[in-house]
This record gives sequence, structure tokens and C-alpha cells, in this order.
Amino acid sequence: MSQLVFRSTNGQSPAVSLREALLAGQAPDRGLYFPEKFPKLTPDEIAAFAQLPYREVAFRVLRKFTEGIIPDDALRAMCRKAYDFGVPVEVIHHRVYLMRLDQGPTASFKDFAAQMMAQMFGRFMQEDGRQITVLTATSGDTGAAVAHAFHKVPGARVIVLFPVDEVSMSQRKLMTTLKDNIRTVAVDGKFDDCQAMAKRAFADPALAHINLSSANSINIGRLLPQSVYYFYAASRVAKPGEPIVFSVPSGNFGDMMGAVVAREMGLPVKKIIAPVNDNDSFPKYLASGVYQKISPSRNSVSNAMNVGHPSNLARLVAVYGGQMDETGKIHKQPDLAAMRRDIFSSSISDERTRASLRDFWSQYQILLEPHGVVAWQGFLDWLAAEPGSDAPAVIVETANPAKFPEEVEKVVGWPPDVPASMTAAIALPEDYDRIGPDYEKFRDYLLQHHVDQPTAKEVGG
Ligand SMILES: *Cc1c(COP(=O)(O)O)cnc(C)c1O
Repeated sequence: MSQLVFRSTNGQSPAVSLREALLAGQAPDRGLYFPEKFPKLTPDEIAAFAQLPYREVAFRVLRKFTEGIIPDDALRAMCRKAYDFGVPVEVIHHRVYLMRLDQGPTASFKDFAAQMMAQMFGRFMQEDGRQITVLTATSGDTGAAVAHAFHKVPGARVIVLFPVDEVSMSQRKLMTTLKDNIRTVAVDGKFDDCQAMAKRAFADPALAHINLSSANSINIGRLLPQSVYYFYAASRVAKPGEPIVFSVPSGNFGDMMGAVVAREMGLPVKKIIAPVNDNDSFPKYLASGVYQKISPSRNSVSNAMNVGHPSNLARLVAVYGGQMDETGKIHKQPDLAAMRRDIFSSSISDERTRASLRDFWSQYQILLEPHGVVAWQGFLDWLAAEPGSDAPAVIVETANPAKFPEEVEKVVGWPPDVPASMTAAIALPEDYDRIGPDYEKFRDYLLQHHVDQPTAKEVGG
């Protein structure tokens, strides 16, 4: 069976299989892995999704990437395990829908990728009798999703770095109460500091023996599962073959890249709207063709999107035939005209975010949170800029309002209901370490805390 090949966006590393790309996280040349060619789904295969539950859609999309690496029956079982929660697609008004990706164990869309990645890592570790340390920098939601997905997975240990002042209490508690094979580290700094420390650790020869892997949105294993829900949403709201509009609130651009991947695989997509908060390097780039990362990143109420330099832009640029390196330098311009035709982006200030959250509630009696409402406001911006669309549109709600109770209460006047999965975690005692934004100290920390875990085989695989 022919396996799909993954290449680095920097073009200086050998091509690898999905398995290698997944376990490595970042390519040796510091680029991001991306499929050389996208596997396609036929219009008939896509039309069949309308009758299928989410886990089966996931199986049929993901098997295009796992052929020859994971047998179908195993992948089907992994999808069943990973996706045991609902994916509601609700009507907002005529042909405009809200897809709630907030029903997973940590109430954010990041559960979709983390759950499947943990399944895949678990399987590969078991096959190899190896152990791995998953190192992830988080602005709040990734860490929780990864920690929950990998909790007690044999052969895997997780270290989560988070910026101490940039995560909400419930975000923090969803990471710090698990213990066992999960360690959380609060960094006195910003998300960018956490990400920079993680990146240096991956490239550090002194840590080679620890077998570090990343579960960040740079990992291709994070991206591929995020294409599934776009197929699923379209199967629920669009006629077969009918182009659809998605609005995806964007920080590191992994979620919106899922929509790009779905489109490359054959899903008819009319427009992908990728609104951002005050970190507006992408909409400025789309308008001007000049890319300038924002450093340091700007704080905003949609804190999971406080990303000054979205690393997935390197992949987006690659889709349009260009090349951007990990520092944000453009070596070859992509086809900007095509990018503008396919993608719309605007920047939503905190003031507009709050006003829109209030307006949306009073108009539709649907409660959003500061990220999902950026998607809504971005959609309104697009309608104003390019009026006249009657295509079905799906607004992506990326978290449960209960993850941002302070902000939601400030705006609507009462605190959101807390889902049961979160109440349980929040009641448990926390345990985390604290460190400055100092790479040398972090390296010592990694070396000190590197105790051998039982491998999958020893545990009984
Ligand atoms: C991570 C996150 C985002 C941004 O997703 P990216 O893939 O980084 O663009 C949006 N909303 C929430 C709630 C998140 O946790």
C-alpha cells in the first residue's frame, strides 16, 4: 500500500511518513510537516457523511492519511474511543449555523485533536515498546486538552508550560489537577515565552535522550483531526456539492487550517473566514502582502488567541505555493490573489468582542464566549465587505462559555452554567511547578524530572 509522504515547510529535511512526522512534531530544519499531496475524497464519499455519526466520518476522513500505517479496524476503534461526545450544529438564523466544539472532556475544540493524537501516540508507543515525553506550550486550552487525552496513557509523560497570568482559573485547574503522568509548569511570562522555551528544548542536543515530542498545533497530528468537523458540519447543513462558508476564530491558525485541509481533500468551500483578536499580523498581511509578526503578543479577552506569530501560517503559505520560515520571514510569496479569494480575515478588538457577545445574546438568546464571538463578528465583517452571499455558513464556537465565566458574567450579567465534566476537575487539589522565562532553568528542570516511565510493554501491552 502506498503511504502518504510528509515534507517540511522549510524544504531542508527528508520526507517522512505520518508516523515519523507525528512522533517528531517539528521537522529537523525547524519547519512544519505537511502532506506532499492531499488525499482526495470523492463527491460520493462526502455525500455519504450526511447519514453517519461523527466518529464514522472521522474514520473515513482520517483513514486517507493512515492507510498502510494503522489498520482500518484499529483506526475505527480509536475514533470510537476518541469521539464519545456530541458535536451539535445549531441554527442561528436562516442558513447560518453554530457548530459547538465544546462538548469534549475539557470543553474546548482542542479536545478533538488531542484525543486522537493520544490514541495514535499510544498505539505507536505500544508497537515500539518505547516511551515519550510530550512537551507542550499552552495559552490555556491546549494544555488541558492534551493533559486529559494523555492522562494515564502508558509510555507517555506530559509536560505542560503555561503563562501564569494568561490563563483563567478553570483553564488552569483542568491541567493542574490530573497528576500521575502529567506535570504542569507555570511560567512567569507570556505564551510566546512558553512556546520559545519549548522550541529550544526540541532543538537541544543535551535533551536528545529524553525523546521529546510536541503536541502543539505545530504537530501534524493536531491538524488532521481538525479537518473532520468541517466535513461533518457541511454534511449536516449543505446540500451535496454546495459550497459552504466557515468562520473560525484564529490564534495559531491550526483550527482554520483544518478547514483548508478539508477543502484540499475535496470539500466544496466558498470562503474561510479567519478573524483574529488584536494580534492582527495575518489580516494585515492578507491586505498588504507584508508580514510583520507581533512581538510581544497582545493580551486580549480571547486569550487562547493571543498569538503574535501564528506558526501555522507557514503551512497556509505553502498551500498557496509560497514559503515562510519559522521566524515569519517570507522566502517566496504565495499566490496572494488566490488567498484573498478563498480567505477573509479581520481583527476584532476587545471592545467589539464584548459588544458582540452582548448583542448576540440579546438577539438570539444563545450564549457565546470570547472566542466563538470573534468568529461571529468576523462573519458579520465579511458580510459587510462582500455582501450578497446566500451560501450556508457555519460559525465555529471553540469553547464552552463556562471556561470564561468572569468575562461572560461581566458582559451578560450572570455566570454561565458549568458542565459536569468541568465541575469534577475544578474540585480537585492543584499541583504545579513555577519557573521564570529562562531556558537554562527549564532545561535543568527537564533533566531533573526525567524519571523513566514504565514503557507500554512493561505495563502490559
Ligand atoms: C486555541 C483556541 C483558539 C484558536 O485556535 P488556533 O488553532 O490556535 O487558531 C480559539 N478558541 C479557543 C477556545 C481556543 O482554545
